[in-house]
Amino acid sequence: MNQYDSQVARGLLEAEGYQVVSEDEENQTLKGADSQIAGNLGAPGVDVVLMNTCSVREHAEDRVYGRLGMLGKEKKSHPNLVIGLMGCMVEEHKEKLFKRFPQLDFMVGTRNIKEIPALIEEVWHYRKQVARIKQDGLSIEYTEFIKRTSPFHAWLPIMTGCDKVCTFCIVPITRGSEVSMPAREVYREASRLAGEGVKWITLLGQNVNSYHGETLSAGAPEHQSTRKLTGDGCAGAPVTFPKLLDMLCQIEGLEMISFTTSHPHDATEELFQVIAKNPKISRRFHLPLQSGSDRVLKRMKRLHTYQAYKAKIDRLRMLVPDIAITSDIITGFPGETERDHEATVNALKEIRFDGAYIYKYSVRPGTPAAKLGDDIPRSVKAIRLRELLNLQSQITEKIHRSWIGNSARVFIEELNPKNSLQLKGRLSQDKKVVFEGSPQWVGSFREIEITGLHHETFLGKEKRLETGLGGVGVDLTSPPQTAWKNR
Ligand code: SF4
Repeated sequence: MNQYDSQVARGLLEAEGYQVVSEDEENQTLKGADSQIAGNLGAPGVDVVLMNTCSVREHAEDRVYGRLGMLGKEKKSHPNLVIGLMGCMVEEHKEKLFKRFPQLDFMVGTRNIKEIPALIEEVWHYRKQVARIKQDGLSIEYTEFIKRTSPFHAWLPIMTGCDKVCTFCIVPITRGSEVSMPAREVYREASRLAGEGVKWITLLGQNVNSYHGETLSAGAPEHQSTRKLTGDGCAGAPVTFPKLLDMLCQIEGLEMISFTTSHPHDATEELFQVIAKNPKISRRFHLPLQSGSDRVLKRMKRLHTYQAYKAKIDRLRMLVPDIAITSDIITGFPGETERDHEATVNALKEIRFDGAYIYKYSVRPGTPAAKLGDDIPRSVKAIRLRELLNLQSQITEKIHRSWIGNSARVFIEELNPKNSLQLKGRLSQDKKVVFEGSPQWVGSFREIEITGLHHETFLGKEKRLETGLGGVGVDLTSPPQTAWKNR
């Protein structure tokens, strides 16, 4: 979601005549930050530093605080430097940040991204701290000004906020309650993207599978909470997430649709059936488990047990045998015992995720879990984290090795930035592969044989080169042959 918001901010600023560079593209002074830097065309050096922020973990916030401190020193020698923040930290801390960081000039909430150019102008004009933080509504901007990093792939947010109450999570505070983009708008934007040459879209939302958009009747207000629309009786038929996916699969030119992130409670049989029947839907399903212990899951208010979660995975794997399942795990949640931890270890062994994001628990102020205390010592969290990471990395490697010798349909994204003689692509299972081929293949799909593995990236070669088909007759419509049989 942040990447999408950054692309919108960048596009809007460039439309106003700013030259925008991301930090890894330029600026040596601030090496290593996640910020975007907007410099007025023709002006010497950087005029504006804008950081897009995340509140999900303490560590992400600490990095922003560190960066603001560094920018404060920079500002002493360059007093005209304008410093701005956007993203979830703004929603969480609001004007308190102005007091703590007087060097901060402007803040923009997740629902006010369009106002960034005007806010910068205001700072230049009045030289005072300014903020725009709207508390309700939809924090999604569909705009043709967006500056995508790829002509062939696009992020497409379809809902924001969350009505679940996972006790560790700051999202309901920073992004508010669930609001879905009307289905008609999503369809229109996806069609527009396909018309521009986009082949792969990734649908975004904090809890994307609880999407509940409306097909608006003529004249009905757009961009409203779905609940409001239903209540007013002015909306058309409700569109669930599986229905939306089914609709988007009909768009000509779109060849792959992926989505993130989902909640197990809303991962339904209907959704699994839609995935199974549509080869356009990515064969990666990210479904956060968080813990293998029912006791911890209950304290997290996750609304599922381990067995209920596993039953869903079993069913999905039965319907879609080539699906790759990935997950999120939190270790060291308040009150987590050795036994709870062992349950998570066993869950990883039993389910065998293709990959998992595993993090130490960190308190997010204002969340229900903050009241539980952070009673697991850092050293214990570190040991548990290491154990889980090691285990998962062995499982991931074994699954990846089982792919070698199989072939798969690969979407070719770009020239390999590390070796321009190679191409870089992505399987439907969202796994990376590099191989030799023509630069003209970028933006198309090819059948690639997996020949090796380098860390988490596959090495491959185009299948038809070996089969001697001489560049004709590769059936790109057939389902990918994958390594699931070897799992
Ligand atoms: S479902 Fe996801 S976004 Fe919503 S509260 Fe739980 S962890 Fe946070």
